[in-house]
Formats: sequence, structure tokens, C-alpha cells
Amino acid sequence: MDVKILPALQDNYMYLIIDKATKEAAVVDPVEPQTVLHEVMTQGLNLTTVLTTHHHWDHAGGNEDLVRLIPGLNVYGGDKRIGALNHMVQHDHRFNIGNLNVRCLYTPCHTSGHICYFVTAPGEGNEAAVFTGDTLFLGGCGRFFEGTAEQMYQSLIDVLSCLPDHTKVFCGHEYTLQNLKFAAHVEPENEVIAKKISWSLERRNLGLPTVPSTIGEEKLYNPFMRVTEPNVMKHVQKADGVQTMKAIRLEKDHFK
Ligand SMILES: [Zn+2]
Repeated sequence: MDVKILPALQDNYMYLIIDKATKEAAVVDPVEPQTVLHEVMTQGLNLTTVLTTHHHWDHAGGNEDLVRLIPGLNVYGGDKRIGALNHMVQHDHRFNIGNLNVRCLYTPCHTSGHICYFVTAPGEGNEAAVFTGDTLFLGGCGRFFEGTAEQMYQSLIDVLSCLPDHTKVFCGHEYTLQNLKFAAHVEPENEVIAKKISWSLERRNLGLPTVPSTIGEEKLYNPFMRVTEPNVMKHVQKADGVQTMKAIRLEKDHFK
């Protein structure tokens, strides 16, 4: 599997997922259809599929134009508010892009219909990637616009944390440095956070994205993936994971 990162708008990421064997491709959150079309033509891809993480304009806002440019696209998503949607999916819904396997993960909270897409190449021990939209960011998570701390706990801890550690994480925005600054505030002694900050600074100074990370990495420095860690619970003086999730999100909302 090839994943091509396509920066869009101010700090959004669109992604082209390519099955190398068949050249069939899917695009995640194509908010800038012309950029997608250009890449599809240049690489000679057979774009068949749109994977929409959630209905917010900066993710789903390009769907209708892209379908006009490339008729017949399969547009997947978990929310009726998504433009040009023709495949409404639920948790564990599965389909293919060429030889690649896609599994939908229902991860509500940022929005009530948010879906993450877990994509694997066929065969044992092979590549895996998850496209997390505005649910999981590198070093952080999305705001709780339409959901509760319980739901974000389920989405991050019960669903995304259970994916294989080597799964690459491709998220919806370049928010890594702001997120890690907060992570360092929550866990000042966590050296993995300090290392990831200097690495991310280097990347950004070169104009490069910080995506992808991996699920295994996120468990080491992302405070929202670490709400059951004693250090993180102690920071907000809570005794359980859901209460910790609620408290650190509230603190992050006001963090500068
Ligand atoms: Zn959003």
C-alpha cells in the first residue's frame, strides 16, 4: 500500500491510499478536489472511492465537486450530513480498494457520526494504516463537539488503542506541535514527549508533515491515549480513565 499525503487548506491533510498492484485508489477527506484530480492524473490512478471521516466542511466539503469531476465514485461515511454520500457505514463494515482491506471503526464524540478507516494489505504481518480524521491527532484528540468523554474514551482506548502497535496513524490536521506542548505540560518528566517535540520541530522547519506516527508511539506520548496512566490521572487528580479524559480535554480547551 502507498499513502500519498496531500496538504490542503491551512493545516488539513487529505490522503490518497493506493493499491500498488492494481493502481486502484481511495481518497480520504478530499476537501480540495482539484489537487486530488491532478495527483490521480499524474500517477495514472483508478480512483474509485472516497472515505469521509466526518461531516465538517474542511473534511467533507469537496465531495460533491469531486463526484462531478469523477462520476461513479463510491462515497463512504457514517453521517447523513456528508455530501454525495452513497455508502452509509457502521462499525465493522468492510470493503476493498483493489487488494487492500478496509474496516470502518465507529468513533463518535468529535461528531456523532465520525468514522476512522483501518486499512490493511493482504498477507500476514503486513502493512496497516488508520485514517483518524479529527478523532485522534498526533499527540492529541479532537474537541468533543457532539459527544461525551465516555465516547472519546471508547473511541481512543477501546477501539484505536487495540489496533496493532505498528499501525500507521494518518490524522486530519497538522496540530502535532501544539498538542505535544500540552502533552509536556501534563507529563513534564516524559522523555518520549521531549524527543518527539524536537523531531517534530525539525520536520516542520523543513516544511515536512509530522504524519504518520504509529498507534504504538501514540500510547507513549499522547495524553488522551494515556488516560489510564497514573501520571496522567495524577495531573488532573482523578482516579479513573473517563474522568481523566474529561478533565484533560477541558484543560486542553483552555491551554495556550
Ligand atoms: Zn472536525
